[in-house]
Amino acid sequence: MNNKINLLDVVAEESVESPLELVRLGSDENAIIPFTVDSEAVDLHYCSETEINSYVVCNGLDCLLCRIGRKRDQRLLLPVYLPAASCIGILPVSRSLRPYALLPQISNVLKAEKTMVLFITRDGAKYTVTTAELQKDVDGGETLIKRFLDDYEAGLHDLSTVYPRIDNEQLASVEGIGQMMRLKGIS
Ligand SMILES: [Zn+2]
Repeated sequence: MNNKINLLDVVAEESVESPLELVRLGSDENAIIPFTVDSEAVDLHYCSETEINSYVVCNGLDCLLCRIGRKRDQRLLLPVYLPAASCIGILPVSRSLRPYALLPQISNVLKAEKTMVLFITRDGAKYTVTTAELQKDVDGGETLIKRFLDDYEAGLHDLSTVYPRIDNEQLASVEGIGQMMRLKGIS
């Protein structure tokens, strides 16, 4: 029996398994450094039922939440660096281009050639973004960003894992959802 374990492999696995953090914007300022224009689209449903109380990933063609008429929201998931926590975060951005939406404000910053820090607060659908140039003595996360991009390119990160996936069977066992199924005659 071969019970040798290569420590470097263990560390490599650990680093990949470390979950990505979902950036939750609110009334406190969040500091964010964008480093890529490449985002991933994901379809979500909001489930207010106490058992779930969060966005969950749409189950696709036979999705139960789609069938009971639950609205589908698309988000673009953008990897960003969070300098306050020194980690990579996933920022969900809607496709809205309305005034005060997040996407037009972020895209303006991404067009700049310099590394910028964004300070973002959110009040409902209204986002307030202020910016500052990254000061020379502040860690811009270059090492972490490079490692993330290498791992991402190698297919080691699925950004949508920041949201829970719940299969149709489990969803059907949630009371509010099961009730809608019975009302609509869905088995
Ligand atoms: Zn769905």
